[in-house]
Amino acid sequence: MMRVRFAPSPTGQLHVGNARTALFNWLLARGSGGTLILRIEDTDVERSTKESEAAIVRDLRWLGLDWDEGPDIGGAHGPYRQSERLHLYQSYAAELLGADAAYYCFCSMAQLDVDRQEALAAGRPARYAGTCRRLSREQASERITAGERPAIRFRIPEQRDVVFTDAVRGDVRFHTDVIGDPIIVRADGTPAYNFAVVVDDALMAVTHVVRGEDHISNTPRQILLYEALGFAPPTFAHLSLVMGPDHSPLSKRHGATSVAEFRSKGYLPEALVNYLALIGWSPGGGDELLPVEELAHRFSLEKVGHSAGVFDEEKLAWANRHYLKIADPARLAELSLPYFNDAGVRMAPDDRGLGFLATAMAMGASVDRLSQVPARLALLFDYDADAALADARLLSEMRGGEARSVVVALAEELASAPRLDREKFRDVANRVKARTSQKGKALFHPIRVVLTGRAEGPELDLAVPAIDLGAELPASAGIPKIIGNRERAAAFARALEERLP
Ligand code: GLU
Repeated sequence: MMRVRFAPSPTGQLHVGNARTALFNWLLARGSGGTLILRIEDTDVERSTKESEAAIVRDLRWLGLDWDEGPDIGGAHGPYRQSERLHLYQSYAAELLGADAAYYCFCSMAQLDVDRQEALAAGRPARYAGTCRRLSREQASERITAGERPAIRFRIPEQRDVVFTDAVRGDVRFHTDVIGDPIIVRADGTPAYNFAVVVDDALMAVTHVVRGEDHISNTPRQILLYEALGFAPPTFAHLSLVMGPDHSPLSKRHGATSVAEFRSKGYLPEALVNYLALIGWSPGGGDELLPVEELAHRFSLEKVGHSAGVFDEEKLAWANRHYLKIADPARLAELSLPYFNDAGVRMAPDDRGLGFLATAMAMGASVDRLSQVPARLALLFDYDADAALADARLLSEMRGGEARSVVVALAEELASAPRLDREKFRDVANRVKARTSQKGKALFHPIRVVLTGRAEGPELDLAVPAIDLGAELPASAGIPKIIGNRERAAAFARALEERLP
C-alpha cells in the first residue's frame, strides 16, 4: 500500500510549486488507494509560524486536497509536527553517536566561515573540513562538561557511490567525496532537515518520497542516513521545479506565486488544481480539462516529465474560463461577493439577493477571473444617464436624428410596458424597430446606451432582463438599488432632450 506525504515548512504562504508537489502526492495516493500524510516541518524555530501553518492548511483545503493523517486530524504515526517529535530525533541521534556513525562538532560559525573561505580560495569544494571528525569521545565529553554546546554531525562514509533510481529521473549517482558531513542536530538541540526527514519518513512508513527537484542533492545524504539507522529507503521521485517565463524558478519578480494570491485574483480552486496537474504531466488521450478524480485515476509517476514546467498564466486563465462556465451560478454568486466589496459595491444579500446575483452572473460568463465580475455587472448598480452623456462621443452619437428617434420611441414604449424578461424585451425592440425603421446596430446600439449607460457590455438579452429583475427586488434582499429599464429610458430621454442644441 502506497504511503506518501506532503511536508511543508510553515515559513510563509503556500507557493504554487509546493501546491503542485502536494497535488502530485494527492493524485498518487487517491489514484492508488494509498495514504497521504501531511507533516509540518517546523524545526526552523526562527522562520516557522503557526499563522503560516494555518494558512497552508487553509490553502490546501481550499484547493480541495485532503489527507488521511496530519496534525489537524491525527493518525497512527503521529505527532505530525516535527516540533512535537524532538524526543525521537534525540534518541536516533544518540543511536548514531553510539555507533560512531555521528560525532560531536564544536566548530563555531566563525570557524566554519573561515574554513569555507579558505577552501573556496584554494579551489576546493566548500564542504565541512572535518575538523571535529577525529576528536575522541573523551575529548568531546570533556568539552561538553566544560560547558560547550556541540552540534552533531553525521559521518559520511568515504569513497562510496550512492546510487538510486528516481521514479521520475531514472538512475542518479553521487560520489560521497563531494559530500561534507552534514549537521543532523544543531547546537540548540533542533534536528536538521536531512535528519528529521529520514527519521520521520521511516517511522511514518512512507513508501514514496515525491518532492521538488531542489532536494535531489539531499537525497544521497538521506539514503546514507537510512542505511546507518538500519531503515529501508523509500522510492524517491523528484519533480522538476515550476519556472517563470524566463525559465528561472517562479518567484515574486514574476508576479503572483502563492495559492492565496491566485485565489484573490479570482481563480477557482478546481481551475488551479487542474492547471497545476498539467505542469510536467499530461493526462493523455488529448484531454487536459478533467475532474480531479479522473486526473487521479490517470496519474502515474512514470509519465511525469523531467524538464522544467513553465507557469503559464494564460493557460490558467483558459482553464478558469472553462470552470467558470460550468460552475454552479449560486456558488459563483457567493464567491464573487468579496470582489464586489473590493470594487466598492457593498452588499449583504439574503437568499433572494443571492439568487438574483446568480442569475445576473450569466452576464459575467465570459470573464477570465472572478475579480472581473463586478466590472461586468457594473451596469446593474451604476447607472447614470447624465454621466453617460457627459461622454462627448456618446452624446454626439445619441443626438443624431436616427439614434434620437430610437431613444424617444424606446422611452415611450417602456412607459407603458411591464417589467422586461427576454421575450418582452424582444417585443419592445420589435416595436421600436417598426416605429423608427432602424435595425441591426443602428437599433441596438442606442438601446444599449440608453439601458446600460455604456457603449459596450454583455448581451442585451441577458442584461436587460437582469436589470428589471434587480429593480423588482425589495430592500431586504440586500442588493444595492437597481434602476429599472423604464426609469432608465425615461431619464435618458430627458437628459438627451436637455442637451439638444
Ligand atoms: N520541508 C521541506 C520543504 O518544504 C520538505 C522536503 C521534502 O519533501 O523532503 O521543502
